[in-house]
Amino acid sequence: MKKSFFLFAIVLLTCFTLILPIHAKLNIYFLDVGQGDASIITSPTGKVVLIDSGPSKNLILEHLDNLKIGHIDLVIASHAHADHITGMDEIIAKYQPRAFVDPGIAHTTKTYERMINALIENDVNYYEGTSRKITLGNIELTILPPAEPLISQSELNNNSTVVRLDYKNFSCLYTGDIEKERERELCSRVDSLLDVDILKVPHHGSSSSSTPTFIKTVNPDIAIISCGEENSYDHPHDEALALYYNLDIDIYRTDQHGTILVQTDGSDYTIQTETDAPRAPPVKIEETKKDVSSEYKYAASKKSKVFHYIDCSSVKNISPENLILFKTREEAIASGRRPCKRCNP
Ligand SMILES: [Zn+2]
Ligand SMILES: [Zn+2]
Repeated sequence: MKKSFFLFAIVLLTCFTLILPIHAKLNIYFLDVGQGDASIITSPTGKVVLIDSGPSKNLILEHLDNLKIGHIDLVIASHAHADHITGMDEIIAKYQPRAFVDPGIAHTTKTYERMINALIENDVNYYEGTSRKITLGNIELTILPPAEPLISQSELNNNSTVVRLDYKNFSCLYTGDIEKERERELCSRVDSLLDVDILKVPHHGSSSSSTPTFIKTVNPDIAIISCGEENSYDHPHDEALALYYNLDIDIYRTDQHGTILVQTDGSDYTIQTETDAPRAPPVKIEETKKDVSSEYKYAASKKSKVFHYIDCSSVKNISPENLILFKTREEAIASGRRPCKRCNP
């Protein structure tokens, strides 16, 4: 009797194992789109959310293809700047999302116009980014309240749609390009909703954002910075980086790590990055400093087509594992790189 019950239990268990999806996990991709923001969320029940599309149509469409995204349930545009919504028109036409959320603040650019036209032409349900909760399968997205009245300073950035994602005990906060004024507002109005595991750092790590109060209120384990290598804004700024470092918050950057994948079962999470892949032996910064003056005069990042004088300010932004050094200018040119416009090597 006992034995047959045991057998029955095994059969039952096997059935359940087969029925349950093997990878019942939430995946959050912070896509490497250069200087901009784009993130894809795929839920354990197959729901797909896109938050921002970055600065390049081709790049975002390529990412979606590579990830084999077949449909998108919800698109959120944090705000109307081109580094967040380029290619939205084509994404809307191709994936026909069920719903679309943005802050409802118009912009005068063609990119913005094309996005709005695509929403109309494809009959997508439009929701303004006012306080609301969106439940998609077993994940929940909370749109945090806009400022009232809207903030007039850096209007588009500050009034970005801010989204909190929850899955069981895991949480993540998307902040678009909000700046100090909006951070202050959020801290005073909804501070209890800000405390999360992972923060998408506001405004590409600019010093216009990331106030100490905001970071302490959000209190993340991990800070994700989405920015382009050697971007013209010099994002992320040292002041902002220092605040996260000093609070022992781990920083991941798309300019250094490539696309960053956070995977969670709702209690634990893991982080994988594109640069985890096998690569050439790293050159240690400490070592390079020693022989810099005598031997190496030029430097470049493995991921860039530009080379610099070793003391160019851009070099300090190159992560040790991506740093390549050259003794002569000829060597640097021979590597297929062109001189930096700033330091003119
Ligand atoms: Zn931006
Ligand atoms: Zn912006």
